[in-house]
Amino acid sequence: MTTLKTLTPAEAALAVPVHPDRPLLIVDVDEVLAHFMRGFETFVARHGFEMRIDRFALFQNIYRAGENDSIDMATGKQLFDDFFEHGADDLQPVDGAAAALARLAGEMSVVILTNAPDHGRSARMGWLETHGLHYPMIINSGLKGPVVRDLAARTGRAVGFIDDLLPNLESVAEDAPDVVRFQMIADDRLRPYAPTAPERHLWADDWAAMEPLIQRRLLG
Ligand SMILES: [Mg+2]
Repeated sequence: MTTLKTLTPAEAALAVPVHPDRPLLIVDVDEVLAHFMRGFETFVARHGFEMRIDRFALFQNIYRAGENDSIDMATGKQLFDDFFEHGADDLQPVDGAAAALARLAGEMSVVILTNAPDHGRSARMGWLETHGLHYPMIINSGLKGPVVRDLAARTGRAVGFIDDLLPNLESVAEDAPDVVRFQMIADDRLRPYAPTAPERHLWADDWAAMEPLIQRRLLG
């Protein structure tokens, strides 16, 4: 696996292997390949917190056990940072993701594009390896449009991008409008609250539905 330890996201977008004559699929991790919400829930529970999902948010769904007000931003940020460093064992893979990507990778380049704190890089790479996701990984921060634009420029074929978060999908639509956008939110408790725009970004509930959608749009 390419480690790209010292590269910025923009530099990494030029350095990862991308076949110039094959389609390219750019894939998020949390809520696409990994059950982030469930993993974070398990992690915070060990620290005396509980998750009650009633909106599309993270820290606003976390409570000290038995309390009525959700935790403040500083507490949430600390738990979040700790989770990326120490919580990889709590992250479960999304059903069918590794097998679907393995099949798709027979016909296209695959690049993992994840927003994560830099101190979580080695844990994140280890998690991908453990779960059979042997693809180059770029750690990004902020909106994903610019990096996707740079990656997409490296192939003459169709490019797809999968993410759970509407702002990232909109950012890609803005910066790389020819890239086909796919939205997926693995957590079925969070899914009903998610902002979506299915007329702009193709929606699939799971990998059983996502894989044929990608095949049709990138290989058809
Ligand atoms: Mg995500």
